[in-house]
Amino acid sequence: MSAPAAARGGAPGRGWETVVGLEVHVQLLTRTKMFCACSAAFGDPPNTNVCPVCLGLPGALPVPNEHALRLAARAAFGLGLTVHPRSSFARKHYFYPDLPKGYQITQHRAPLSTRGRLEVASPDRGAVPVGITRIHVEEDAGKSFHDKVPGMTAVDFNRSGVPLIEIVGEPDLRSPAEARAYLAALKQVLLYLEVSDCSMEEGSLRVDANVSVRPAGSAELRTRCEIKNLNSFGHVERALTAERDRQIAAYERGGTIEQRTMTFDAATGEVRPVRAKEESHDYRYFPEPDLPPLVLEPEWLAEVRASLPELPAAKRARLERQYGLAAREAAVVTATAALSGSFESFVTLSGAANGKEAWNWFANDLLSFSADGETIPLPLERAAAAVKLVQAGKIGRQSLKPLLARMVETPAADAEALAQALGLLQVSDSGAIDGWVREVLAAHPGEVARCKGGEKKLFDFLVGQVMKRSKGRADARLVNAALTAALEIQG
Ligand SMILES: [Zn+2]
Repeated sequence: MSAPAAARGGAPGRGWETVVGLEVHVQLLTRTKMFCACSAAFGDPPNTNVCPVCLGLPGALPVPNEHALRLAARAAFGLGLTVHPRSSFARKHYFYPDLPKGYQITQHRAPLSTRGRLEVASPDRGAVPVGITRIHVEEDAGKSFHDKVPGMTAVDFNRSGVPLIEIVGEPDLRSPAEARAYLAALKQVLLYLEVSDCSMEEGSLRVDANVSVRPAGSAELRTRCEIKNLNSFGHVERALTAERDRQIAAYERGGTIEQRTMTFDAATGEVRPVRAKEESHDYRYFPEPDLPPLVLEPEWLAEVRASLPELPAAKRARLERQYGLAAREAAVVTATAALSGSFESFVTLSGAANGKEAWNWFANDLLSFSADGETIPLPLERAAAAVKLVQAGKIGRQSLKPLLARMVETPAADAEALAQALGLLQVSDSGAIDGWVREVLAAHPGEVARCKGGEKKLFDFLVGQVMKRSKGRADARLVNAALTAALEIQG
């Protein structure tokens, strides 16, 4: 009776609930660093974007980057947080070769913003609100490379002092898949806000995940472990799954969980504790003496707030309302701000009877030619011209994709001329259609008799035969009409 869940054949961990909270570090999209004028660009030669401030040389004084503060406030407003007119900077001490000052400037007791939330489409629980505890501003550390020089560690300080926000989430997530959905929703909002490029490859978005498990239905929070520096959404999900399973197995053996910092090895899929000496629980925070309290004027805050774009949730709701789209359909065309802009332009340009029809052309036809799921590889005016050929009955619905494919390859050509060159123009000449109908009726007397006798599906067969004779080019509506008329005359 007390066999582990896996041994009973059920899902591993049945009877347990997973509790996850994420801390997300996001690099702000600024030209320069947080407290100096050095370039914040990624990928420059090592140690070329450095100065006394970001190298922590004695006597150098930090000056906050106003644009970074603006982007941080923008992120906070966009995620529904309260941005405080007064906050302060603090020093967080730890010793590491890529931290030249021996401390990082961050915000501790009085952060920039607190208490927001993000609604997440959970794969398990539907729409769930996930609390955001705080968003604060800080500077990044440099970067250590253990594989550049044999037997030595190389340090690049170009990243030292680059502006970050840390987005601290509440432990409101209940599964690894839900954590991944939260990150996707968060990234989408940040991209809409244009505060970061959110490139995980370049380290502009990094995730620390706190995870614990507890008996399902319990409200207690058990000891958690933190998995540091996860650099892809896939790794987050895999690492959380491995850590969850490790904790459940320990409890089911009658053991306990010790609070540890873990790392994830993507090659083996394992989570391992970091060496104890790398764990530092006491950062000896104290107020940054070189920076006065950060005071944001009400007018400045109001201006930042007023500049927010329409965000994904609001946009989805509006598109559903305005164009009669289903939630899933609205989600497809709001994947990025650029894509939703293209969709709305296309609705107008296509002359579609309604938004739903325009969505069908856009999502099913146009989007299938997009390499990145976002960029439509031909001007929308030209795509609309192709759609208008369908609407005018000049080409069949099924001919749209082949025509678009050719238009993508030959950017300048006229849609109708291309349709003609490809032999896609429909034959709507009644003489030609009547001729094919007569041929088909003569060739299939048995089917004609059964169709007249009431076997309706044979009508479709006869239509198909006419289409075949026209090599697919006959206007299907005219074929239907001509065939109906011919069968009635014969009857
Ligand atoms: Zn610098």
